[in-house]
Amino acid sequence: MKKYKGCLCQIDLPLTYKDNQCKLPICPQASGGFKWHLHHHHHRRSSTASRFTGKFENSFSISYLHRSREMAAAPTAKIRRSRFVIEPEEAEQMRKEKGLETLRDLLPALLPAARQLARPPISKFHVGAAALGSSGRIYLGANIEFPGVPLHQTIHAEQFLITNAALHSETSIPFIAISELPCGHCRQFFQEIRSASQIQILVTGDFRPLSDFLPNPFGPSDLLHEEVPLLLEPHFNDLIEEVGEFGGELEERLRKAALQAARASHAPYSGSVSGFAMADGEGKVYAGSYTESAAYNPSLGPVQAAFVAYVVAGGGGGVGGGGGALGGG
Ligand SMILES: [Zn+2]
Repeated sequence: MKKYKGCLCQIDLPLTYKDNQCKLPICPQASGGFKWHLHHHHHRRSSTASRFTGKFENSFSISYLHRSREMAAAPTAKIRRSRFVIEPEEAEQMRKEKGLETLRDLLPALLPAARQLARPPISKFHVGAAALGSSGRIYLGANIEFPGVPLHQTIHAEQFLITNAALHSETSIPFIAISELPCGHCRQFFQEIRSASQIQILVTGDFRPLSDFLPNPFGPSDLLHEEVPLLLEPHFNDLIEEVGEFGGELEERLRKAALQAARASHAPYSGSVSGFAMADGEGKVYAGSYTESAAYNPSLGPVQAAFVAYVVAGGGGGVGGGGGALGGG
């Protein structure tokens, strides 16, 4: 792969090139060009404690991501309200309308809508997921695939779901419904949540604990001290702000968003906390935090997390025809 100055490929991101132009790894309906900023710090862990000590910095400057022909021709998304988050009042209303006893019973009813939100141009295999947070909010997730790039960049519906919940500062998701049996990768990713074994998951039939899906798990408790925050718990990574010239107002917002995302990053195994922020053609900023797994490979990169934020906010265009899977509005 050819490397371009100021391009995302400099940081090992899933881009392919055609006619010397970047091809952004998002739904072909993605809108506008992007600016982006990655904040990445590597910490060395002390040998005696789980606290981080020492650090060296590896920061990338702001660059412009070229607008591809396909993107230039794509329509701009105009979605005012996220289809991926249902506020508690609305969830309660939906529960009553459907005559359901509890909010968790609403989750399986939302799966057909969640599946419609998937963007799997490679597999054509739509997966939808829904979770009830302890806040009373409901979150949806769907799988996203990026054609023409390595498959490990794929975002599974369950990872989307957890990232969506984390974006909204949800601290636990005790009930989850999924349209398909979760793959091993996602069963492992769930382990990164405290008391994961007690999370209740419904695929078909009744809710069953995650421990039914992944008995004898390997997880954070095998590698971390108990007091280290886990996924969905607040993180305040101690990072130093970069100094220097960063360009205009948008670049400054990108830099701050990437830094904030890096501070929230869950990277207790490598100490490589990272955040990524990008802006669409309208100057709206979307940021994502790097999230590690105790099994390492199921970790989710900050760029994928930023794409989740982008899609949750209505970016990348709608799929499955208009109308809003949750009733629009
Ligand atoms: Zn999966």
